[in-house]
Amino acid sequence: MPLILFAAPTLWPEYRDALPDALSDAGIDARITLEADPAQVDYIVYAPASPLQDFTPYTRTKAVLNLWAGVERIVGNPTLTQPLCRMVDPGLTEGMVEWVVGHTLRHHLGMDRHIVNPARVWDPTCPPLARERPVTILGMGALGSACADALRSLNFPVTGWSRTEKPGQLHGEHGLRKALSSAQILVTLLPKTPETENLLNADRLSLLPNGAVILNPGRGALIDDDALLNALDAGHICHATLDVFRVEPLPQDHPFWSHPRVTVTPHIAADSRAVTSSRVIAENVRRGEAGEPFLHLVDRALGY
Ligand code: NAP
Repeated sequence: MPLILFAAPTLWPEYRDALPDALSDAGIDARITLEADPAQVDYIVYAPASPLQDFTPYTRTKAVLNLWAGVERIVGNPTLTQPLCRMVDPGLTEGMVEWVVGHTLRHHLGMDRHIVNPARVWDPTCPPLARERPVTILGMGALGSACADALRSLNFPVTGWSRTEKPGQLHGEHGLRKALSSAQILVTLLPKTPETENLLNADRLSLLPNGAVILNPGRGALIDDDALLNALDAGHICHATLDVFRVEPLPQDHPFWSHPRVTVTPHIAADSRAVTSSRVIAENVRRGEAGEPFLHLVDRALGY
């Protein structure tokens, strides 16, 4: 019977029922514990805020199963030699699609003009159709491609950019510049890695069309804060809706809080949902026990 260490104690109330249920549905008879002799642990369910930081004594552990999609806070841990799996949770994906579509529609339709209109201005200008509003998504992984599908189903022309070459998508520096230059709405869904940090610097932001809107539910470090503030002050970028930040919670005195062209959402775009993410954990335990390859393995060298 495999021993699973649930090393994210603050999340345990959410998973107390969901994880055993999912394991039982997957036909796995496992013991789940919040504390264990490291030498006995077969799997570690992990979240970045976990007190567990030294993986050295976990000598028989077959995999560390992350509850979050982002792994930047664990992937570089030098004591972690066990396979690391990230979370690709249908519930989390659904949440991200809703956040991205909602904020895209807010800016596309210019909803703010009508929601806050103290001067009672009667401006009958109709917004363009979605088909006339090009959207670019940087990062076409589990989340970026689901958002692209949802936006395309509403007729937004979506350009996708990612690291590797794929049909119908852009890649590389030339592809990035092309993707930025057409983006009236830019969505950043890249992981934080050494290659993506400050990807959107002043030079690349300057490629966006005048009046572009940025939605960043990826990671704060993808965008150079000062370059973004300069582009917002200049009016070149019309608005930035930011869910993630270099420091979280966003410090009270950070200029993003008070900037009239910035909307701050407190890292709520998408959370792992206990029922659906437990099924992903259970499937990976099943695979581990059957000697099958794990799902969603992280490439340590690439950092995602
Ligand atoms: P994923 O499936 O691993 O996809 C990552 C995408 O980024 C892939 O398309 C990948 O390209 C691309 N990429 C990585 N490095 C790149 C580079 N150097 N240049 C160009 N493209 C690069 O990840 P995911 O599940 O979609 O999640 C993406 C990120 O969303 C997470 O890492 C996390 O930071 C963030 N997130 C935020 C929240 C929130 O609540 N705000 C919730 C969950 C996740 P390839 O396809 O070529 O590999």
